[in-house]
Amino acid sequence: MRARRALVLGATAALVLTACAPASREDWTPPSWQQGMVHTTEPVDEIEASGPLAPALLPIRLRNDELGIQARVTLLPEGPTTTTFNAAVEQHLRGAIDGRVAASGVAYAPSAPPAGAGLGDRRCTLESTRRPAADLLADSALGPAGGMGTAVVCGIVLATGPFLGERLRVVTGEEGTVVSDSTAIVYADVLTGEAIAADGLWAGGAAEALSAGIVESVRREAGALSQRPASAGDEGQLAAIRAALSSTVPSAEGFVITLAPGFVSPDLAALGVPPTTEPISIAVPPNVAAPLVSPFGARVLATLAEPYAGPLAAPAGDRTIDCALVPCVALTYDDGPSGLTPAILDELSARDGAATFFAMGENARGHAETLARMTREGHEVEGHTWNHPHLPRLTPREVAAQIQDSTRALEAASGQRITAFRPPYGEFTPEVLAAAGMPAILWDVDALDWQGPSDDVLTGRAVTQPRPGSIVLLHDIHERTARTAGAVMDGLLDRGFVLVTVRQLFGGELPASGAWRRAPG
Ligand code: ZN
Repeated sequence: MRARRALVLGATAALVLTACAPASREDWTPPSWQQGMVHTTEPVDEIEASGPLAPALLPIRLRNDELGIQARVTLLPEGPTTTTFNAAVEQHLRGAIDGRVAASGVAYAPSAPPAGAGLGDRRCTLESTRRPAADLLADSALGPAGGMGTAVVCGIVLATGPFLGERLRVVTGEEGTVVSDSTAIVYADVLTGEAIAADGLWAGGAAEALSAGIVESVRREAGALSQRPASAGDEGQLAAIRAALSSTVPSAEGFVITLAPGFVSPDLAALGVPPTTEPISIAVPPNVAAPLVSPFGARVLATLAEPYAGPLAAPAGDRTIDCALVPCVALTYDDGPSGLTPAILDELSARDGAATFFAMGENARGHAETLARMTREGHEVEGHTWNHPHLPRLTPREVAAQIQDSTRALEAASGQRITAFRPPYGEFTPEVLAAAGMPAILWDVDALDWQGPSDDVLTGRAVTQPRPGSIVLLHDIHERTARTAGAVMDGLLDRGFVLVTVRQLFGGELPASGAWRRAPG
């Protein structure tokens, strides 16, 4: 390691000598000496979250006007090897929420703004993590006057081999002034599940080893050419470099770190170089970085040229969604399946949404493929009796037969276990519940699609009436319901809702009994 360092410094001295000669030429640019040395560079571009990477990301967007918070973060498809990464990202998000709870005295609950909120796109906005803090606050339109509250933005900074990196920035403003502004980067190896902060890419002592090279590169950037190798510097200089390691982003140039404005060092001061006024990006090429990185960092360095090889997201309905954190709504379709159902499934698929189908037993045979498709695409199938009787008019034995016959038919066609039912017309009694032997799932929003409303009226009801935790009643046997399905989903997504199954709405498991109009809590 010592020999390599000496070699690099020797090369510096020789190159600076040759560089001095043509320095008066205005079009002169540094030759390729940057290749094996620490050097200043451009910031590393963030990675487009809507590109080929999109199926591997789970973007989340929150807006809560009462608390004054707007947030975008990206999670990874759930699995044993992504939980550490997701926990680290969620910790930053929850930290920001807790800050607002403390500042406002208002408890947190998911909220959904009125229609037209523009929250449909949840992905990280390219380069938002590097925008001026005041702009982030102003854009988020927080608080009555704007600029009040907390904005959380994200950027994908690494996607190579099994590695993914996400930069999170949390900016808080009060009365139009930025009061805090912090950035963190989380890296994960999605094969092993290991997740680290950015400075974990480096081994101990990296700041000390890089210090002289960084000062030299800042010196060159300032035009203060010197043949003298930079000194080890002082504690202030080392502290600034240690802090900069937390900004490390891998790129084709190696590891790029960002020196915060205000960087000073004894060597630079001696040459009359003032403290830096802008962030400066410094590239540490792979050959220089190699002896200074952690085992995790070494594996990242070795895969910088590879495409991302992480897992793809599971179907929407198969994911664990924290409906206590994000606003959830469950669209439910009754009385099918019918020939109209596949079109509704297409609309769900196009939006990565999930829904629940309360299907009738007598429809199972004719639409077995549609029921199987629901399962493949992650939707929930539950029962709506065999042929839609008024259950309270039946004997307990007849009720049980309605439930059991439809359960058998739906389970055979869908391959799912049927664990709940919806009583036709919403009619039930304690005796019906007891005879059914499973929970009744009702609704708190009825779009009244069976009454023949206009498309606009139907869409308006289904979009504006739900609140977080709502269950929306629709029927996949009406043309207008199929025709407006996409508009209804878009309207709910625009309000910030995640489209979930009833099971997801209840935290992944349905209650064993009882009658439910919406999720508890
Ligand atoms: Zn019905």
